[in-house]
Amino acid sequence: MDSWPHQGCESVRDGRNRGAVLPTPRPSGAPARNPFSVVSLSPAVLALGIEGTAHTIGVGIVDEQCRVRANVYDMVRPEKGGIHPREAANHHAELAAPMIRKALDTAGISADDLDVVTFSQGPGLGPCLRTVATAARALALSLDVPLVGVNHCVSHLEIGRGLFPECRDPVLLYVSGGNTQVIAYARGRYRVFGETLDIGLGNMLDKFGREVGLPFPGGPRLEKLALEGKELLPLPYSVKGMDVAFSGMLTAALALHRRGERLEDIAFSIQEVAFAMLTEVTERAMAHVGKDEVLLGGGVARNQRLQAMVGRMAEDRGARMFVPPGELCIDNGAMIAWTGLLMHRSGVRMALEDTLVDQRFRTDQVEVTWR
Ligand code: AMP
Ligand code: MG
Repeated sequence: MDSWPHQGCESVRDGRNRGAVLPTPRPSGAPARNPFSVVSLSPAVLALGIEGTAHTIGVGIVDEQCRVRANVYDMVRPEKGGIHPREAANHHAELAAPMIRKALDTAGISADDLDVVTFSQGPGLGPCLRTVATAARALALSLDVPLVGVNHCVSHLEIGRGLFPECRDPVLLYVSGGNTQVIAYARGRYRVFGETLDIGLGNMLDKFGREVGLPFPGGPRLEKLALEGKELLPLPYSVKGMDVAFSGMLTAALALHRRGERLEDIAFSIQEVAFAMLTEVTERAMAHVGKDEVLLGGGVARNQRLQAMVGRMAEDRGARMFVPPGELCIDNGAMIAWTGLLMHRSGVRMALEDTLVDQRFRTDQVEVTWR
């Protein structure tokens, strides 16, 4: 596993060019076989998942009871400007092999102990997705174990259900850098009940932070500043039906900054207004589908003020809120491993051509075969 296929390269041929990941050559005359379709039907017990939809590469190892045996990750931190997909992909390509090794070491297992390899198939940035897909294919080929591509958004929900046995059928408020969605299960699929019409809330916080000179990522910095905020400044409250929008708030918040308002007050106001919007839409989704569990996911879900607001809403409705530990809220390999394990256990098998990445992989495209 020393040399890995290069970033952005989806071709399995490239993987095969590297001695370390070559599948066993088939004897002449033996029928051609697809290495992913000839799989053991015994239940998977250890899954390795590689996450790499955007800024973070993560590798997790999870067992069949959703015990997280390893969850290591590294985030690309641009010195200035936003995340460049190619740079992020380079970062992931450099770190894929060492992170896999680190995860195996942390779990105290060898690669041969793995039953299934899983990876984030989308949605996300093309070069990043292709890089981790290539790494995952190469690993699965070299170990001769099945490979399962996982929808990133679905995995944020499944890791919550896996971690909290009482959380059976939640509405997920998923708030990350690139995504903001309210998701719930209905008629065999996870459906998006509401989402951002423009940018993800995390991206908005990071962008605002960058423009006012805060280091990346801006979200946690703004949370600290907001604790010192005293005045609620006017910002657009953009809820449209079940959807939300944040770019108007970004423009307005930057205008407040230029006008000389205190950064603490702006941070406080952004949080109060943005989180109220999300709480409203989440509550409406819960009422609509008649569910009494709410689960938080995505990096912004680490925010204590968001947790307090959603928690209060849940309490008022007689519902319960579940928040995974921070390292399982952000983008991480463990959630990919767990969801892939569920899929595999339910009979999902992917041939090579099924493992192409999909930058616009919709949450409701996935047929939920495991519940
Ligand atoms: P993710 O895309 O799910 O990995 O999450 C990363 C995003 O979460 C970034 O946009 C961060 O700014 C944001 N984030 C992380 N911690 C916090 C926090 N405590 N408050 C608000 N946003 C946060
Ligand atoms: Mg995410």
